Amino acid sequence: MAEMCLGCGLCCDGTAFDSTALEAGDDPGPLQQLHAVFVADKDSTRFEQPCPAFSSGCCSVYASRPLACRSYSCALLLAVDEGEVELDDARSIIATAIASRDRVRPALLALVPSPTLAALDAIVFGIARPAVRVLATQSIQGLLASARAHLGSLDDPAAQLVEHASVLAEADALLELLATRFGIGRWPDSQVSA
Ligand code: SF4
Ligand code: SF4
Repeated sequence: MAEMCLGCGLCCDGTAFDSTALEAGDDPGPLQQLHAVFVADKDSTRFEQPCPAFSSGCCSVYASRPLACRSYSCALLLAVDEGEVELDDARSIIATAIASRDRVRPALLALVPSPTLAALDAIVFGIARPAVRVLATQSIQGLLASARAHLGSLDDPAAQLVEHASVLAEADALLELLATRFGIGRWPDSQVSA
């Protein structure tokens, strides 16, 4: 794991991605032993994030991590490797993102009751998952889409959006930070990310 990734894990902890695809040659065994949740469709098998192997800021199955994990580097990591961004500056950006994540995730979760979130998840993402998993696994973008959909379904949705404007704005700002500094772009609300 790259030095600057230690203590970050935004690409493992469910902040940036909902899930990660397994590829041919991957051994799912270590993740299965940690009770990772696998979702299969006709094109791929994915394991949901937050990844259960992410522990204390690093990957506990590093030697046998999937190919997608081995090959992934966010834009910030690449920029440091290329000498375009100083390591200390990158760490400061990561700290900002993590602090925002720690405010935004619980605030978004508090906006949507879990049974509603499960139902919305099935509509927005086309995947039916138990509410307890949905609560744990949606990315910030997924949570924001679900929160907006839920607020829009309530009486006087315009007033609801105004009341919760600060939470929604910080979530948007975090997504913008992920897009501009980490290269983790937004995806259409109708699609699963990662
Ligand atoms: S988001 Fe970037 S810096 Fe953070 S762990 Fe992933 S690759 Fe490393
Ligand atoms: S297997 Fe390791 S590198 Fe891959 S998502 Fe999980 S914690 Fe991150």
